[in-house]
Amino acid sequence: MEEVLTNFARRDGELYADQVRLADIAAEVGTPCYVYSRVAIERNFQSLSTAFEDYPHLICYSVKANSNLAVLNVLARLGSGFDIVSGGELERVLRAGGDPAKVVFSGVGKTKREIEQALEVGIRCIDVESIAELQRVNALAARAGIKAPVAIRVNPDIDANTHPYIATGLRQTKFGIPMADAIAAYRLALDMSHVAIHGIAAHIGSQITDTTPFTEALDRLLRLIEDLEEIGITIENVDIGGGLGVRYRNEQVPDSKNFVTALINAMHARGFDLPLIVEPGRSIVGDAGVLLTKVEYVKSNVVKNFAVVDAGMNDLIRPALYDAWQDIVPLVAESESKRNRYDVVGPVCETADVMGKDRELDVVEGDILAVCTAGAYGWVLSSNYNSRPRPPEVMVDGDQFYLIRHRETIDELCAAESILPE
Ligand SMILES: *Cc1c(COP(=O)(O)O)cnc(C)c1O
Repeated sequence: MEEVLTNFARRDGELYADQVRLADIAAEVGTPCYVYSRVAIERNFQSLSTAFEDYPHLICYSVKANSNLAVLNVLARLGSGFDIVSGGELERVLRAGGDPAKVVFSGVGKTKREIEQALEVGIRCIDVESIAELQRVNALAARAGIKAPVAIRVNPDIDANTHPYIATGLRQTKFGIPMADAIAAYRLALDMSHVAIHGIAAHIGSQITDTTPFTEALDRLLRLIEDLEEIGITIENVDIGGGLGVRYRNEQVPDSKNFVTALINAMHARGFDLPLIVEPGRSIVGDAGVLLTKVEYVKSNVVKNFAVVDAGMNDLIRPALYDAWQDIVPLVAESESKRNRYDVVGPVCETADVMGKDRELDVVEGDILAVCTAGAYGWVLSSNYNSRPRPPEVMVDGDQFYLIRHRETIDELCAAESILPE
């Protein structure tokens, strides 16, 4: 099978990120270790940005996909906005040099403190997900003596054809305000003294591999905007969320041009020309990262061969959590003839700790493997389960590489804890 390695190339059988040999990074930093390619992140952002041509738009990178400060900074330098889901993410955006005026804030559980913080720094828009939140925002803005810019996040009840854990636009999920209640929510917002209606928002899910769910969702938002216009409420911005998929295996994913063209066509089809906000996460960073891991042991039983690697579900949980398939390739190209079928498993004491099932590999102890397409929802979902320090992160920039997060130490793991007095 062809390797899924959009941004990592083989030269003389060896795997590279940009001009840097991944084996050199593994030798210096150790394994497990995440590696991101700056040029790949920039290419993904630029291709989306240029796809809009002169159509008014704002790209708000979804911080939760990969929130390393260096990643946020690379995107901030390109003029990216940011989609956040917590006060912690807002703090990261500011520290990375992001512009608060390009920040949109989603999430069903915003605390008072988080809303105050967002209002203090002057973010672009709070995407309100309930009537109760709308009332809270109005009250806090009143106390601060300002008008809070809000969008109502509606739940368009669209099936995004994705894994149930990452489908967010179906009416049975916790996200957004139901379409049927949206008009009432806008009426309420209009009458509130301390909110200003900035727009409308939706986010229907993640790893979506077809433009249809996006255009259907957009069409529902536009129909709602028509209804709102009839009662005198004007909507000036449409945020269609994130969710564009990446290729993990053999998915045929629309490229940015097709994605953007489909959105603009859906907009024009209803006679609108409103500025579009998109919140891509996975499609910006997913294929810009790999996780390097070393084979500790090779073992077999009557039914299986196992390659036991030094990265576990605490380092990369997608395979265990979503039954996700990620390609696993050797850093040095192998000969086809010596391949065996392996389950690539981690060291964590859970049967679910499997990186990849039934992979054709030629491996011996000490070999280094790359788990591909690990730039999104990789490190950010890592944990210290089994008291495993979280892995370092490296960014390759041309012919240089930089440690952008060091490997955690056991001291750091224990530093926040204390024992009871004698
Ligand atoms: C997670 C999320 C995104 C990003 O989703 P991707 O699939 O990574 O593009 C965008 N908007 C909101 C509100 C989200 O929760």
